[in-house]
Amino acid sequence: MVAPVDNLIRSLAKLPGLGRRSAERAALALLRKPELLLDTLVSALQEARASVCCCSVCGGFTANDRNPCTLCESASRDDGVLCVVEEPSDIFSIERSGGFNGRYHALMGKLSPSKQTGPSELRLRALAERVAHGNVKEVLLALSTDMEGDVTAGYIGELLKPLGVRVTRLAFGLPADSGVGYSDPLTLKRAISGRIACD
Ligand SMILES: [Zn+2]
Repeated sequence: MVAPVDNLIRSLAKLPGLGRRSAERAALALLRKPELLLDTLVSALQEARASVCCCSVCGGFTANDRNPCTLCESASRDDGVLCVVEEPSDIFSIERSGGFNGRYHALMGKLSPSKQTGPSELRLRALAERVAHGNVKEVLLALSTDMEGDVTAGYIGELLKPLGVRVTRLAFGLPADSGVGYSDPLTLKRAISGRIACD
């Protein structure tokens, strides 16, 4: 295999959901008629690189010239409920479910000793500041249902305790060891509407 093709396959294989075999198929499809797929992909990637950033308030993806994002700026959303997610992509999943009309806060990960992610790597201080200075009455934790998600939820519970805000989490119809990104919209909607208090 010539080196540039191999490089392309290796890069594609790093994408979530693409193994080596799928990356090979994708690379060969891209190269077979470059003017159809590859050129469009190159310009879409360049455009995304140049014009997409993370919202300074919620951490979700937004355009450089729309920061804060439309979800943070929208007057029709409820300031009283703040949904805490791990990744910006989780915001997409919850929006797709149509079950939530509050505001968002992406942590950019979860506490994980094995990946050496501690509290200072996450947007936890920003979370406490939003709760302390905003009109937030409820913080809904939409975190993964694994040990790291539980540890993160416990940490946030302690962090927010002095602020007297109500802390809830998604109801577990969600399968164990999964996260918001793996749940279908209906399951997610049910998990939001049936949310339960954390103690
Ligand atoms: Zn935002």
